[in-house]
This record gives sequence, structure tokens and C-alpha cells, in this order.
Amino acid sequence: EGGRDRFVGLSPREVLHRVFGFPAFRGLQEQAVDRVMAGDDTLVLMPTGGGKSVCYQVPALCRPGMGLVVSPLIALMDDQVAALRQLGVNAAALHSELDGDEASRIRGDLFNGRVDILYVSPERLLSPGTLDRLSRQQISVIAIDEAHCISAWGHEFRPEYRALQTLPEHFPGVPRIALTATADPRTRNDILTALAMPEAEVLSASFHRPNLMIAARPKGGEMRQLVDALQKHRNDACIVYCGSRARTERIAASLREKGYPACAFHAGLSPQEKRAALHRFRSGEPIVIVATIAFGMGIDRPDVRTVIHLDMPASPEAYYQQIGRAGRDGLPSDVLLLYGGEDMSRARYWLDQSNAPDSEKRIMRGRLEAMIAFTESTSCRTRALLACFGEGMTEPCGHCDNCRAPVPTFDGTQAARMLLSAIYRTGQRYGALHVIAVLRGKPSDNISRAGHDRLSVWGIGKDKTETFWRSVVRQLIARGALMTGDEHGGLRLNEEVARPILRGEEEVRLREDAVEASARNSRSTG
Ligand code: ADP
Ligand code: ZN
Repeated sequence: EGGRDRFVGLSPREVLHRVFGFPAFRGLQEQAVDRVMAGDDTLVLMPTGGGKSVCYQVPALCRPGMGLVVSPLIALMDDQVAALRQLGVNAAALHSELDGDEASRIRGDLFNGRVDILYVSPERLLSPGTLDRLSRQQISVIAIDEAHCISAWGHEFRPEYRALQTLPEHFPGVPRIALTATADPRTRNDILTALAMPEAEVLSASFHRPNLMIAARPKGGEMRQLVDALQKHRNDACIVYCGSRARTERIAASLREKGYPACAFHAGLSPQEKRAALHRFRSGEPIVIVATIAFGMGIDRPDVRTVIHLDMPASPEAYYQQIGRAGRDGLPSDVLLLYGGEDMSRARYWLDQSNAPDSEKRIMRGRLEAMIAFTESTSCRTRALLACFGEGMTEPCGHCDNCRAPVPTFDGTQAARMLLSAIYRTGQRYGALHVIAVLRGKPSDNISRAGHDRLSVWGIGKDKTETFWRSVVRQLIARGALMTGDEHGGLRLNEEVARPILRGEEEVRLREDAVEASARNSRSTG
């Protein structure tokens, strides 16, 4: 132990070694730390996992006084505090979920100047009692974590963050450092304006991960596709993300049957099971973790060689964060996304049904659409992904699937019109299978009962395979021309997008490889 300022006088590098155990600063960390040490304001833009915490934790200890960290998420605060305590740093968190005893213990420590770094939620910080207490302390640095929360433009706007602009009045002369993984220019300007720090230097790390080989493919026999992708990683650490707990269990079991050291991970496991899985993952042995997004926090095995998504994430931000767990050691790593039209329409449906406020839904909808557009993109994927974060790339990356093998497209206007008409004429309430059977003229009881074998669209698409039509369905869903009207998978037209296509006013280019991939698969599975 020892007093609060026991690290003052050590250089930032020494604190980095002694307290955090890291041999050297990474990327922009050193620049950020130097700014704070000099007493200047800074905005740090770094992808998740980039190492933002060090940027304020090191100067918080090196400068005299207590470091103050504003953070919006209680779970995150508690994690950080626990991690710092393990390193021998006296960290504490003040937020609304503390019980009375905890809160008064922390107040006691504060009063006695024993706290090195205090995490605090914005509403708690700005409550009169707390402000009063804190402004009597010497503060070494004020860090504003997840600073994009101050921007109404961003996806996680928190009105409480707005009041942070009064910080300089309460803590004059204390350097501030704002940090975020959201890099679009509009959010960045909002942060600088809202925090009233026009002089701040903006330190922006590139979000480009040149060692990630990004690929995305339509689903078609996902187990076979998964095994194909894992083949070259038999002796590696791999992560497979799935959308549901039940799926992680099922997929892990099938992989084990095929001889892979697979292990499911999700929030429903008991603490012991979780610990056992994490232990195996961290041990360095080959392993395939089949997980829901519950697997993420605090995962930093550097040699994960592949991250595979069997279900589409809800946003490019989530996707970026998850694939970012591959190749932390900088060595080439493969990331593969398998996507399907059902995923897309299900995600849209649940978003529509959610109780979130409209403003929030609109933003989530925008992110989902960006994710969908990414899957069907026919040009450089890295560029498409970075564009979501406001980062431009002049040259295509050269290491994604589309760069390595350019995607042929074909004129699918006629096929799209046939499909949209068939959906319209059957009353916009049947799923893809039914509609495709009508197009291909495949008789069934359901079809004759509904009289669909007497429609003008009956059999007009019989020269194409079922997999061809499935691919057209998926690509029209991706394009927004089709949507699922209910949870049973009934397809409906989205008038605005579908009408110009139906009228022949708009050309529809479709990816050829998608059609071929599904066709190949349907042949191999019979
Ligand atoms: P962020 O907040 O940007 O998502 P973190 O601060 O949580 O990132 O850091 C991500 C990971 O990188 C952590 O596991 C951390 O221990 C590690 N890390 C951070 N800085 C360094 C460094 N200089 N050297 C080695 N590892 C580091
Ligand atoms: Zn590329």
C-alpha cells in the first residue's frame, strides 16, 4: 500500500512497467500520456482493444492528485476497478447501484485522500454533494470514457453527458482526456464542442487491421462451411460466434463429434463452467470456443487465428469489435461471416417490434442496414467497414475476399421482377419456400388449395434452380425491397424500394458468386 501520490516522481514508462506490467507503450498511448502529463486537453480515438485505459490510468498515477474517470456503464466501471485493485492501485467506483455501506466507505477513503483513481457515473459526479466533495480534492486528470455518449448523433447518446461541459468551472486547470472507439467526424466534432475543448489535440488511431483477412459468404450448409473454415486452424485458437445459447451448445457438440476441441460459452453457463472454459481458452492449447456475444469482455488471448460468425451481428461496430479479437499478435488471421436472408429479416423484424424509443430504433435500424449492406458488398470489405467509422481508404485493402477474387455480378432485373410479382400475387403472406414453389411450378396441396397454380406467375421461373431463387430472395432482402411481415417468415414488399424494380425503372445487379455458392451447396447436400 502507501499514500495516494506514491507513484508521483516515477516516469510514465516506469509506471507502465511496474504497475501494469507492460514492456512498452503501444500506438498512440505515449503521445496521449505525454499530452496529459503536460496538462493539455486531448481526444483519443482508438478502436476497442486499442488500449485506451492506459492513456489516462498512467498519468492519473504519475501526476499528483486523484484521477477522475467518467464512465457511463456500471458493469464496465466495476470491471476496471477490480482489474486495477489486482494491480495494487486503489480504485473505487461511485454509482447509483452502490449500497449505503459501500458508498460511505468510499466517501471515507476520499476524505482521507486514499483513492488513486475514482470511476464515477456522470449523474453522480454532477450531483451537488459529490461535486462539493471532489472539488476539495486535488485532481490529477479527468478522463471522459465513451465520450461519444455526449453526441446526440451517435448511437449511445446520454443526456447526462451534456452537463460535463461545466467540468472546467469546477476543476479549473485539470487536464481532460476524452476517449472513444467511435470515430466518425461528426461525433468527433460534437465531442470537442460539447466538452468545450476546442484546443484539444485529436489523436486518432487507424481502425485498419491489415492482418485480418476479412471474408463474408452466404450461408448454405453452415456446418460444412464451418468445418471448411476451421480446417486450416486445427492447431489454433478459434472463436465461433452464434446468435443463441442453444445454437452454441449444438454447434460445439457437432464440432466435438468431428474431433475438434470445441467448447460452448454463453451467459447461461454456471460460474464454474465459465471459469473452466476461460481457463482452457487462456491456457494456450488449441480450442474452438463457440460463443454468444457474452464471450468478449476481458478476452485477450493474442493468438486467436480465426473468428467466424454463423449469425450476422446487429451493427458494423459490434462486428468490428468481435473480429478484433482475432490476431491481436499482429499475425495473419482469418475472419469469416456467414450470412443469410432469414437473419436479416429476423433482425429487422425484432427491431421493429422492440419497445425502444423511436429515435433509438432509427439509429439501430441504420446500423443494421449498414451491416446488411456490408455483407452483400461487392467491393473491398475493409474499405466498406472502415467507412462505417468515418475512415477513408484510398486504395482497396488487397487482403479481403473481394479484393483477392473480384465478385462477378449479373443483371438480375428480370429475376427480381418475377420474384416480387409472385410475392405480390400470392398476397404477401407466404414464406420463401412457397413463393419459390409457385415460381418454379411445383404443385402441392397448399398451392392448389390457395389456387396459386392458376396465377399468371405460376411456373414462370421454372428454368432456374431453387437455390438460385433463394439467393435472389436474400439479395432483395439485403437491398430492402423485401421484408418479413411477421415472425413466421411471410415475405412482403417494401413499396418504396420494390416499386421501381417492378416497373422496370431500376436495374438490379446481383452477386453471381452468391448464387453459385448456394447452388454448389445444394448439389453437395442433395
Ligand atoms: P480499450 O479500452 O481501448 O478497448 P483496453 O484499455 O481495455 O482497450 O486495452 C485492451 C487490451 O490491451 C488490454 O488487455 C490491455 O491489457 C492491453 N494493453 C493495453 N496497453 C498495452 C500495452 N502498452 N502493451 C501491451 N498490452 C496492452
Ligand atoms: Zn479489400
